[in-house]
Amino acid sequence: MSRVFRKLLAAGIAGAALLSGASFAADKLPVVASFSILGDLVRVVGGERVSVTTLVGPDEDAHVFEPRPADAKAIVQSRLLVVNGLGFEPWAQKLAQSAGYKGQTVTASQGVKPRAMAAEKGHDNKGRQHEETDPHAWQNPDNVVLYVRNISAALSKADPAGSAVYQANTDAYVKDLQTLDAWAKAQFTAIPAARRKVITSHDAFGYFAAQYQVKFLAPQGVSTDAEPGAKEVAQLIRQIQREKIRAVFVENMSNPRLLAQLGKDAGVTVGPALYVDALSATGSPADSYLKLMRHNVTQLALGMRAN
Ligand SMILES: [Zn+2]
Repeated sequence: MSRVFRKLLAAGIAGAALLSGASFAADKLPVVASFSILGDLVRVVGGERVSVTTLVGPDEDAHVFEPRPADAKAIVQSRLLVVNGLGFEPWAQKLAQSAGYKGQTVTASQGVKPRAMAAEKGHDNKGRQHEETDPHAWQNPDNVVLYVRNISAALSKADPAGSAVYQANTDAYVKDLQTLDAWAKAQFTAIPAARRKVITSHDAFGYFAAQYQVKFLAPQGVSTDAEPGAKEVAQLIRQIQREKIRAVFVENMSNPRLLAQLGKDAGVTVGPALYVDALSATGSPADSYLKLMRHNVTQLALGMRAN
């Protein structure tokens, strides 16, 4: 057997092994995204060239996420880790480190102008108010343009042969984001500014509020695991009555009991679920970022028209 033939044979066996069973996806770039919305964006930009694993899945809450052993395994086997940043998922870097991940990490929100959380955050020992960064930058489609460009650059670095594909997918999606933004602006400008007021269970709409000139009043702080006490609830009921707000919403990861009580005591009807930090399950109304935003804008505008 000639040396050349032996080499060809070895290459053929290796090739066959790659195509068999578990390694079928070996020709795709393995990417891990920290939560479902980022997972959607990576799939849009990466298309057929990537295989995406999402750590915090649809309808799950990244704020109170506890990584599983399978998540560490997924990170170690990936070539790119995509995180939101802005303090949204501090567990992700810790998980990558403890798992011994040596690949690239991209912070999708890089370049976004950060906002402080709107809610009061207590005071430090000098009497100044704490300001915590608001991580929910994806609630403004302009920011998501930056997200997909950051993701595209990171994918191109990890897989230079795909850079033309990533660029084309990004350009097409940026057009979709611009269409979404123009449509959302039109929905809200049709409502008088004084009536653009909403109460939601999750204080996550700071970027959205600034983009669309909508006022959000939240009964809860940024963490979905903290329920307000009776005093805060009574205060909020007075606020509903004072500001004459009938647009009251729950979202997909909060206990709706509190807002149901608010609705009963303050005489308002609680609106359908809004999707904030997570997509909904595949096949439901918010199973992509674009659908999530269209759903929220539609429902918020409907609620505000009743104010
Ligand atoms: Zn959140």
